[in-house]
Amino acid sequence: MPEGPSIVFLREKVMPFISRKVVAVDGDAHKFDKELLINCPLLNVMTYGKEFLLCFPDMTVRIHFQLFGSYTINERKKGKLRLGLYFNGDQELNFYSCDVSLLTAPLNTIYDWSVEVMHEDWNPANALKKLQAKPKVMIADALLDQSIFAGVGNTIKDELLYDAKVHPESLIENIPKAMLKELTDDCVAKSFQYLDWEKADRPKGFLMVHRQKECPVDHKFLTVKEVGKAKRKSYFCDICQKLYGSIKK
Ligand SMILES: [Zn+2]
Repeated sequence: MPEGPSIVFLREKVMPFISRKVVAVDGDAHKFDKELLINCPLLNVMTYGKEFLLCFPDMTVRIHFQLFGSYTINERKKGKLRLGLYFNGDQELNFYSCDVSLLTAPLNTIYDWSVEVMHEDWNPANALKKLQAKPKVMIADALLDQSIFAGVGNTIKDELLYDAKVHPESLIENIPKAMLKELTDDCVAKSFQYLDWEKADRPKGFLMVHRQKECPVDHKFLTVKEVGKAKRKSYFCDICQKLYGSIKK
């Protein structure tokens, strides 16, 4: 699954399509009549967490990449095309293995931008309050909760917890408030660092623990474990990352 910054990077690549008109559509997306888009100009491109939003007059195409979604710009690849959008000027966007739907309500009535960690309206104080309202939840699950941290995915979650030296199975009620505040603040910086890393074509050395073998500090093998309710594979160091409180089995 992509992280929020990967979708922000896609947005930057699609911005030059703004004001171009759709001249043809393709793909097996079937939740709405794709022909509605023909002759419509692309007005804006937005992101909300892991959702990619193509805004046309009075409607928005929402693309969620789920686990295996991908895209190509001005080229095609093998695989089942979910939605192909062809614009004047011989420009095209192709989306594969993703969920595509059409939104007709104004986006501000659908989305709460204050939970989108890379949006200018992001509100860290609200995120901290929401965390404290879930004392029995594991921090690893809370960081993946898109209603608190829209855009934070499994990779950023692992890296944030390693930087903060917090064990992913710590319960929120046992983590000091200052530490929770640090995590809510750091998720923004980490997301923008991740964006820069993507733009640089993912050079080695950025990821400290996610999909790595050993801790960069003590060189002991990292623990790889499906953690919490989300059961996402987590990478962490048992030595560096403190477990706050005990876990009931
Ligand atoms: Zn370590």
